[in-house]
Amino acid sequence: MVSRVSQRQTEIEKDSQMGRAFAYVILGGGVAAGYAALEFARHRDGGVSPGELCIISDEAVAPYERPALSKGYLLPRGAARLPGFHTCVGANDELLTEQWYKDHGIELVLATRVVSADLQQKTLLTNTGETISYGTLIVATGARASKLEEFGVTGSDAANVCYLRSLKDADKMVGVMRSCHGGNAVVIGGGYIGMECAAALVANEIKVTMVFPGKRCMDRFFTPKIAEFYEKYYAAKGVTFIKGARVTSLEASDGRVAAAILRDGRRLPADMVVVGVGARANAGLFDGQLAMEKGGIRVNGRMQTSDYAVYAVGDVAAFPVALLGGQVRRFEHVDCARRTARRAVAAILEPADGAAEQGKKGYDYLPFFYSRVFGLSWQFYGDNVGEAVHFGDFSPGSGHATAKFVVLWVSGGRVSGAFIEGGSREENEETAGAVRRGASVAEVAAELLSRGLAFADQESRRKGLCSNGHAGCDKATYAWHATVGLAAAVSIAAFAYWYGWQAPYVVKREF
Ligand SMILES: Cc1cc2nc3c(=O)[nH]c(=O)nc-3n(C[C@H](O)[C@H](O)[C@H](O)COP(=O)(O)OP(=O)(O)OC[C@H]3O[C@@H](n4cnc5c(N)ncnc54)[C@H](O)[C@@H]3O)c2cc1C
Repeated sequence: MVSRVSQRQTEIEKDSQMGRAFAYVILGGGVAAGYAALEFARHRDGGVSPGELCIISDEAVAPYERPALSKGYLLPRGAARLPGFHTCVGANDELLTEQWYKDHGIELVLATRVVSADLQQKTLLTNTGETISYGTLIVATGARASKLEEFGVTGSDAANVCYLRSLKDADKMVGVMRSCHGGNAVVIGGGYIGMECAAALVANEIKVTMVFPGKRCMDRFFTPKIAEFYEKYYAAKGVTFIKGARVTSLEASDGRVAAAILRDGRRLPADMVVVGVGARANAGLFDGQLAMEKGGIRVNGRMQTSDYAVYAVGDVAAFPVALLGGQVRRFEHVDCARRTARRAVAAILEPADGAAEQGKKGYDYLPFFYSRVFGLSWQFYGDNVGEAVHFGDFSPGSGHATAKFVVLWVSGGRVSGAFIEGGSREENEETAGAVRRGASVAEVAAELLSRGLAFADQESRRKGLCSNGHAGCDKATYAWHATVGLAAAVSIAAFAYWYGWQAPYVVKREF
């Protein structure tokens, strides 16, 4: 009898160490996790069976739309707050509150960090000491903000130094902004986060100085002309840019930063500092266990990793993009997180014939990301390779959001990427369509002409752009025609006309 009791006791202890077991575990509770959960529920006719699916997240709340943190969340009035921006409202879908997960049989293991993963044993060890086992694992650990310390600058832990990746970070930033009303902020970094945070700081009536090492903001992405537009727009809102400069230290006392010191010795007084110096994928748990690429986890076109039972989605996943000829890319953009999450769940629950082949081909994904700052709104589709051609009105005015312009990247006679500021929904969709189709610019022209858009033809004849060469072109126009071809030039002019803008190389003869 005694031995039976002690045997049972040992089994119970073993069970508690082993913890829970799920058919499917989503590791990470961000954007991709939310969209994956919805996809599971839909495939399972409204919900999964208890014990089938769990999400483990080190954040204390159910998955939410992370882009809201640098936009609605930082507004001085009428700010967005949870539960208003849980996933999947960002895609105009259901609002997945904690209750939604309960109602659909999905277990949320919140405020719990996975500290190690054993893919041989199919187990995850959490910081609470629990070992959670899975049948299939979806890694959705996203990315983390790079720290100043990685660049040799100390002081990240000061009370008035802010990063922006999580809800906790956003809460800190809101608190610090409130205490700095009318004061000075130094924004370190001229990328996505820096630009969005600078706009939010201005809205909160804080004077902003942006410091970054590049020649222009968003320099890996924006052309000089695009950057000039946004920099002038920001300047009209009172933002000062210090370009080609590095912060080498933060001057602090009593746990607060008082100034940022630049390499050339300049001292920028600061009531607060916002750091946006890049991000790194959270892939470290799988080093040595999964194939890696582009700083993340390498997956095939079905989001499956080098371990057949493990999938990776969102910011952490590097996948072959069919539209880019199978090139492996990793995107840190919300649309990618949403789509790759759905893709992985569909691949897991509906293993198709020829799945391995599909996996090799790459995922048919059109890269897409966007930003909204002040009253501005831009979208980008595709890849920014090739010759960039600018259309529309690039004058920033006095900071009023009336600008509308397009930049097309043309490579091998095809529109490979498109950037559109101020487009209507229909215009954005049409722009995306042009890039997605992988249309040659000549095809785009044909389609536009079939809609009665004969402007380019007429205009080019009127201006002397003849069909057999470049007579009548000025030097800049000629150079561009030589690069992309006359058909491309004509079709893009048609494109521009369709949007009701002037095509600068045809009408104004300037580039
Ligand atoms: C402030 C901000 C604004 C943005 N704005 C835009 C925008 O306007 N447009 C756009 O296209 N993109 C934007 N993005 C990018 C977009 O939010 C990301 O691409 C998206 O969140 C990626 O989703 P994900 O699920 O892969 O990662 P995340 O949403 O980052 O989720 C990862 C989750 O995993 C958790 N986690 C990580 N490691 C562990 C672990 N070991 N144990 C437990 N949990 C773990 C994290 O805490 C987090 O909850 C923005 C990002 C930020 C930070």
